[in-house]
This record gives sequence, structure tokens and C-alpha cells, in this order.
Amino acid sequence: KDLIVSFGEMLIDFVPTVSGVSLAEAPGFIKAPGGAPANVAIAVARLGGRAAFVGKLGDDEFGRMLAGILRDNGVDDGGVSFDTGARTALAFVTLRTDGEREFMFYRNPSADMLLTEGELNLDVITRAAVFHYGSISLITEPCRSAHLKAMEVAREAGALLSYDPNLRLPLWPSAEAAQEQILSIWDQADIIKVSDVELEFLSGQESVEDDVVLTLWRPAFKLLVVTLGEKGCKYYTKDFRGSLDGYAVDTVDTTGAGDAFVGAMLRKIVDDQTVLQDEGKLREVLKFANACGAITTTEKGAIPALPSAPAAVELLKRH
Ligand code: ATP
Repeated sequence: KDLIVSFGEMLIDFVPTVSGVSLAEAPGFIKAPGGAPANVAIAVARLGGRAAFVGKLGDDEFGRMLAGILRDNGVDDGGVSFDTGARTALAFVTLRTDGEREFMFYRNPSADMLLTEGELNLDVITRAAVFHYGSISLITEPCRSAHLKAMEVAREAGALLSYDPNLRLPLWPSAEAAQEQILSIWDQADIIKVSDVELEFLSGQESVEDDVVLTLWRPAFKLLVVTLGEKGCKYYTKDFRGSLDGYAVDTVDTTGAGDAFVGAMLRKIVDDQTVLQDEGKLREVLKFANACGAITTTEKGAIPALPSAPAAVELLKRH
């Protein structure tokens, strides 16, 4: 079993043609396909792994375009449903001069939010060696129930559960609801990746020190990773913990860095699960993941910037 199944949203970001402008000032926009779980699936496939995506798109030109992007990138789209009544989700995203992003979403509701339990492709989910998800699919029904059901099916079929909450505060009714709901499925994961910003939000403390991270540790976890942007990452398991520096590159757009990191990490773990018990092996995996995250920041957009394995190996050789 080596299939990585990614569950959740796939959408189109509309990104200004010039950076450092407000949405109103933008002279035009470029379509940038994305959605964190879809990016992770494509990251896995680009690194030579087997990936499938489960989610819902609008039965419209954009939805069919996105399914085509999955297929063109070697991702199994057998778990994709199409909604005839609702549109594919859109997000307008401003790229600030520092490379960070601000979002304005068009989801009222969008097709991804309307996936039902009954539409889940259980055949795909039960073949997962790793089942990966975020938290955006928890925000509203019926997708929330479909998400919880998919986790249960994957778990029963023996998959490792991988969770990257990918906090998007503007999508939640309140910050309290976001925190509570993101944490409501926390204990069920085997592997969690959070960014430093998410760690501070979820812990309610302005620090990424070990004592704060450990408030979010649970005994059943196999791996908890905190990513630190250009500074790399910290890792925690039952038996060991440590940190790894990031790789200095010419960053133009950080979109998708976290997804590339997760895809790379899962791609390696699915090949050899003993990395979760062996610190030396795990450090090699996370160096690879840091390199994949770094490369993704050197090009605009997420999907075009996701690296192949040779590109990551090349960056590692230079350091
Ligand atoms: P995203 O921007 O996709 O939401 P994230 O906030 O989930 O990302 P980050 O911590 O920003 O996650 O990035 C994930 C990994 O990518 C980092 O651990 C690091 O290895 C790499 N990375 C991110 N930004 C940079 C950068 N500016 N330079 C080098 N590496 C980076």
C-alpha cells in the first residue's frame, strides 16, 4: 500500500498580475489553481508518489479545468464529484510586497462545501496508506460530515491520518469556532503539520518554544511538525525532538510552500514508515521536505512551483 489520498478543497486563486497592490488597484488577475489538499496531492505525484484527491468541484468550466490539472499531474481524480448547482470555489488573493498573502473568498456556497457522505468514493479512501486533510472542509455541513466519515473509513482501513489545519480565519464564523473545531479532530491524527502562526493561534500563546508545542502533543501522535517559514522546521515524536534549518533561496511567492513540505514528507513516510521511529532517517526526510518547501517559494503560484525529486536533491547537494 503506497497511495496517499488527500481530502478537501480545490479552487482557483485569482492573483494580481502585479504584486504589492490591493485587489481594487489590481489591473488584472491570473488564474492560479490551488487548495491546500489538492496541492499536496500534486506535490506527492510530482515527487514520484501515488496520489489521489477526494473532493467536489462545480460542474462548470473551472471545475473541469481543475480535474484536468489533477489528471495531467498524475493524480487519481476518481474521488472527485461534480455539483450541478454550485460553482467551483474562487479566491482573490493579494500578494503583498513581502510575499505574504491576503484572501477574499467566493464561496456562497461553493461546490467543495457541498460534498456529502453519500458521494464519498469509498473505494479510493479504503486504498489509502496515508489519508491527508485540512480544516476548511470542517467549516460547514454537509462537507463536515463527509470529512468525518472519510477519516473514519480511512482509519478503519488502516491508513495513517495526516492533518495540516491550514488556518483560514476569514472562512470561519469566529476565531473561537475556528480554534474549537480545528482542535475537535486533533487527537485522531497520527501526523500533524502546523505553521508557527497556527501553533500560536491554536495554543493561544505567542511562542513556538517546546513547552508551548507540547501543550498540543497527544500520546497517540507519531509525529508533530512545526514549520517556521525560511527558518525550517521543528519535529516532535514520542521518543525524540529537534529542529532543522531551512534553505536560503530567492523567494518570490511563498504560496504552496507548506503543501510542498507536507507532500514531500508524506511521500517519504509512505515509502518507509520506520522513519517515524528513527531520528536519523526522519531528519533526512525533513531536510528533503524543507528543500521542497524552499524551491516552491522561488516561483509564482503553488502548482507550477512544486518541485520534482531531482530538483530537491540538487538543492540539498549545494548545502
Ligand atoms: P504556506 O505559505 O503554504 O501556507 P505554511 O505557512 O504552511 O506555508 P511555512 O512554514 O511558510 O508553511 O513553509 C513550509 C516550509 O517551506 C518551511 O518549513 C520551509 O522549509 C519552507 N519555506 C517556506 N518559506 C520559505 C522561504 N522564504 N525560504 C526558504 N524556505 C521556505
